[in-house]
Amino acid sequence: MTTAENPPKDRPDTSAAPIRSEWHWHPDLPVKYAPYWLWPAKPAVVTKWFWQNWLQFSDRSIFLALAFLVAFWLQPVEPEQAGFAFGWMAWVFVRNWLLLLIVAGALHHWFYGIDGQGKLLKYDPRPYFKSKNALFKFGYQTWDNVYYSMMFGATFLSVLECFLRWSYASGLINTLSFSAHPIWFIALFPVMALWQSLHFYVVHLALHQPAIYKHVHAVHHRNVNTGPWSGMSMHPIEAFGYLSAILIVLVLPSHPVHMLFLGYWLMLGAASSHSGYEAIWARDRQALLLGAFFHQLHHRYYECNYGNAEMPWDKWFGTYHDGSEDATRRTRDRKRQMHS
Ligand SMILES: [Zn+2]
Ligand SMILES: [Zn+2]
Repeated sequence: MTTAENPPKDRPDTSAAPIRSEWHWHPDLPVKYAPYWLWPAKPAVVTKWFWQNWLQFSDRSIFLALAFLVAFWLQPVEPEQAGFAFGWMAWVFVRNWLLLLIVAGALHHWFYGIDGQGKLLKYDPRPYFKSKNALFKFGYQTWDNVYYSMMFGATFLSVLECFLRWSYASGLINTLSFSAHPIWFIALFPVMALWQSLHFYVVHLALHQPAIYKHVHAVHHRNVNTGPWSGMSMHPIEAFGYLSAILIVLVLPSHPVHMLFLGYWLMLGAASSHSGYEAIWARDRQALLLGAFFHQLHHRYYECNYGNAEMPWDKWFGTYHDGSEDATRRTRDRKRQMHS
């Protein structure tokens, strides 16, 4: 999930700022939130960030374009979807399985298959876990993650998408049109991302309660050193809880394109945000900003950064890890208290 204010456009100069020893590379610290929340407000910074994240080539803008492609061309919501029939529903499932396979598969292939950029802009100094380990289903981290992601992640998103398509088509929920409400139609995309940030914080905080963690969320956290396939690698209960954010369209007036964007943001965004790299670097330039150090800190230190960098929920509720040693100490104390 793209968030950096000053992404490294040129080959990053690691001599300028010292890199903290536990990381191979990290963005400037403290780790930043989306600049909507800066006070006093900085409209120029917000505008630049908005341009970089929503409109320029980024993971977020790709998911946005994909939502438009599906909603207006590949498979719009049509009257036939007012009935649950195999034909149109099968397309939803096949498309979501394929999308996750392509996005997580391509990112994995680049970073860990052909080792496309070595350790350039990689967060964790340790190599990705490729050797056989009894901790994982089928013996390997990647195959275990592929199994959970496809079996539950992409499947549950498809179930929810079918139900919501049926809701739009049958008139259970109204379809918002651009011509009637152009400002709300546009504003709803960032609103969706903000809503997801709150939903994620609440669900994720619950998942970290020791009793639930042990039986449910531990599946996801076997990924200490994450890769793209780690993102949707979740216990079925977690997968449903995480994806249930999409049900917001039952109460918030929207168009199917908003529902699809949120679905891709949830599913495909999890793949990009767990890549373990700041950006894709090809032909000596930054090809695609991924920027997910905020969540990488969560996978390293656990009891911090339950939300994401879109909204400062962690900062407001005292669980923020900004990348500093102080924050690591605080997080370790908190972890000790929670699990004692
Ligand atoms: Zn994660
Ligand atoms: Zn967690």
